Amino acid sequence: MAKYVYFFGGGKADGNESMKNLLGGKGANLAEMAGHPSLRLPVPPGFTITTDVCTYYYDHKRSYPKELKIQGEKALAQVEKIMGKKFGDAKNPLLVSVRSGARRSMPGMMETVLNIGLNDVTVQGLIEQTKNPRFVYDAYRRLIMMYADVVMEKAEGVDLKGGKGVRRMLEERLEQIKHQKGCKSDTDLSTDDLKVLVAEFKQLVGKILGKPFPDDPLQQLWGGIGAVFASWNGKRAVEYRRIERIPDEWGTAVTVQSMVFGNMGDDSATGVAFTRDPGNGESQFYGEYLVNAQGEDVVAGIRTPGPINEHSKNDQSRHLPTLEEIMPRIYNQLFDIQRRLEKHYKDMQDIEFTIQNGTLYMLQCRVGKRNGVAAVRMATEMHREKLIDAHTALTRVAPNQLVELLLPMLDPKAEASTPAIAKGLPAGPGGARGRVVFTSNDAVAWAARGEKVILVREETSPEDVDGMHKSQAILTSKGGMTSHAALVARGWGKCCIVGCGDLEVADDNKSFHTKKGDVVKEGDWISLNGTKGLVYQGSVNLVDVNLEQNQAYRDLMKIVDKVRELKVRTNADTPADARKARSFGAEGIGLFRTEHMFYGEGSDKPLFLLRKMIMSKTLEERKAALAELFPYVKNDIKATLEAMDGLPVTIRTLDPPLHEFVPHSQDKLEALGRELHVDMAELHKRSEGLRENNPMLGHRGVRLGITYPEVTEMQVRAILEAAGELIKEGRKAIPEIMIPVTCTVNELSNQKKIVDRVAAEVRAKLGVKIPFMYGTMIEIPRAALTANRMAEVAEFFSFGTNDLTQMGFGFSRDDIGSFLPDYLGDKILPADPFQTIDQEGIGELIKMAIDRGRSTRQNLKIGICGEHGGDPDSVKFCHRVGMNYVSCSPFRVPIARLAAAQAAIEDAAGVKAKASAKKVAPRAGKRPAAKKAVKKAPKKK
Ligand code: PEP
Ligand code: MG
Repeated sequence: MAKYVYFFGGGKADGNESMKNLLGGKGANLAEMAGHPSLRLPVPPGFTITTDVCTYYYDHKRSYPKELKIQGEKALAQVEKIMGKKFGDAKNPLLVSVRSGARRSMPGMMETVLNIGLNDVTVQGLIEQTKNPRFVYDAYRRLIMMYADVVMEKAEGVDLKGGKGVRRMLEERLEQIKHQKGCKSDTDLSTDDLKVLVAEFKQLVGKILGKPFPDDPLQQLWGGIGAVFASWNGKRAVEYRRIERIPDEWGTAVTVQSMVFGNMGDDSATGVAFTRDPGNGESQFYGEYLVNAQGEDVVAGIRTPGPINEHSKNDQSRHLPTLEEIMPRIYNQLFDIQRRLEKHYKDMQDIEFTIQNGTLYMLQCRVGKRNGVAAVRMATEMHREKLIDAHTALTRVAPNQLVELLLPMLDPKAEASTPAIAKGLPAGPGGARGRVVFTSNDAVAWAARGEKVILVREETSPEDVDGMHKSQAILTSKGGMTSHAALVARGWGKCCIVGCGDLEVADDNKSFHTKKGDVVKEGDWISLNGTKGLVYQGSVNLVDVNLEQNQAYRDLMKIVDKVRELKVRTNADTPADARKARSFGAEGIGLFRTEHMFYGEGSDKPLFLLRKMIMSKTLEERKAALAELFPYVKNDIKATLEAMDGLPVTIRTLDPPLHEFVPHSQDKLEALGRELHVDMAELHKRSEGLRENNPMLGHRGVRLGITYPEVTEMQVRAILEAAGELIKEGRKAIPEIMIPVTCTVNELSNQKKIVDRVAAEVRAKLGVKIPFMYGTMIEIPRAALTANRMAEVAEFFSFGTNDLTQMGFGFSRDDIGSFLPDYLGDKILPADPFQTIDQEGIGELIKMAIDRGRSTRQNLKIGICGEHGGDPDSVKFCHRVGMNYVSCSPFRVPIARLAAAQAAIEDAAGVKAKASAKKVAPRAGKRPAAKKAVKKAPKKK
């Protein structure tokens, strides 16, 4: 019989930590904590219904497999036995919670129902047991509200008129009663008030939803279970999965667990803690707690939580007593448990606990989310502490998390001269600036218009996820370091300040004011220092961070460079970019786009000369213009070769269609006319002659060099003279000449003749030998298909995956924005193929080209210089197919290095697994051809 229910409790468990796919993260870890012999922690007993049931539920019109009921009842009986209580019993009732738990944590995205099992009869029994009627009625009114909202409204898909949900209406009633009674807080309400409230809530629920709140505890239980399954497909959960790329078919498990209460008086409490500081990675037990509260209260940010110990104090909680001070015995027990948990899991754990009348219970543990800065520090420190090995340390940091270490921070000088208008808790480090919006919808809409926004809210809820994602940063006036905003921002590595009590958001959600009296309106610019928790008015400059000061980063990258096989180069066309990339560890330039010198600062003169060349009619005119242009091109290349002294630099000949450079303004055209001694009519005629219907597929790249060999000649001479001069000056220049947009070997042979002739001339002129390579971009499908022929002439290939994707898919890279969202939304494509290599299609072209190319030239050097070279998944693909290097923009170099190292680790693990499956010795490596190619690749010609 299929097993759908896994019990845990009383030192035993059916499941364990390795069963996350089946039991969800929460269920698997509860089983591990409860049942593993080296843990056996105080976990309230319960059972987990598997994710298979979720799949069944959706495949069978929201019904359950027939075995489920019996298995569930059996597990419930086991829980009752351990607890010495009975579910639905009039004298000694057991109450349970029903919670979701997917394979990967989706904080707050699905539903929870607490206090299930209460009705007018069991209430009396519980009062008898606890002697605390106030607590019991409080629990009852919470159940009615939660149940009506989650089970009776949301799960049933009820759409109430007026847009107000039942929860909101019940909350309003609660507020009214508080007002009538002159109570400030919920806790000021008396037992009788709560009793009246419960009766009113039940009546209201019946009236609003048209059916009564169910008294039958079993009906409540199965209603709760169904609601959790239904919430897997709720709007929030679906949205979150899209952002986090969690597959829809995973489903959620449901955990039913006996309730323990942190709200039973001053010897009860609830809290959230981390085995290390998730903000900066420091090895310090860190957490927050609330006395006399239920778990949800900490995350919801309703009261300012207290620090569990000295280390956890912040500006908002400094005055509050620590858990260590008020409950030292429990704190010591908790401290010991967190130690054991981290040792057991060998990773930082995020734990939830409840103290009921002086007894500690563990409600959850999971691998804690952490920002990039903390991830790097924890990985390297745990490695140093010998908790994990070097390879594991590398897998603990997601490559994209490194972005956070490289991202700019507020300019310290500007910050020093700008007074902060408010201070909150530093929940997500780094700097950010943007225009203030107050709702998630506005954040989405403004961001879609290209605005940089900062979402400011009293507190965030799971409904805000989309807007939070689209914002540069998040600022909340309430909540602690474990509030929803802090948790989510930490997961994304976003700049975030929470609990900023210095500011108050206006009721109309159009402005906020600070204690000091500053008023900030919607659309105004503010800047955040998320590392210190400071808020500034206006737009403060951002500056780069100094990575060299980050010891943990340096330690991590040392391991990375030992492990990886793939080289990492950069796409850079200026000495400044080259130097920056070098400081990030680039091992050469994989793409120097010559045309960059005709754009931007300092480009006036060379652009004018280029235009003169383009508009020339005769060969003589053109040659004269090229001669004038030559020194600019040479100097530009020389400066970058110099910056990359000792490292290879791949310089690509002119790529874009010439028409792109034709001036549009009248005064520029007139200046050109004067220079060329032609009138405007003639100029217009020449410019018209260059116009193309399909410039992307037109007269560009090598095609220009075929039509105008003198253009190639000038560029090759500039490259080789620049290199030759540097070599004569004692530098090590290693240029690689790359021809773009090729589709036949004949183009390469044609251009090669020019290169060979010019090389001989330059050598004769300068009297030095200039080592260089000659190669091509592979960016047209035909080039990939005929790679064996291309490699007859090319000594290296560099995959231009931007164009290869464009031409392979037939998607214009400049126009994909108009239909890509539909393709992604309807799951026609799994991801944007211009961001991550489409391994199924374009990847096959790449593999084929590599095989065919190396079948002709075994030591063919192969790299990639399309945007994909900095995308972690694509980098791993490049490793697997045996490329020698990837090349990406300077800021992505560390990311690519880490991804390359992870690819090598995954590769080795795969080889090992395969070998042991087949019982054969593992191969030395999967990429012998590539490795040989690196060693044998001719450095000289
Ligand atoms: C490419 O096509 O991938 C490439 C690197 O060239 P560009 O983006 O300049 O067309
Ligand atoms: Mg290209």
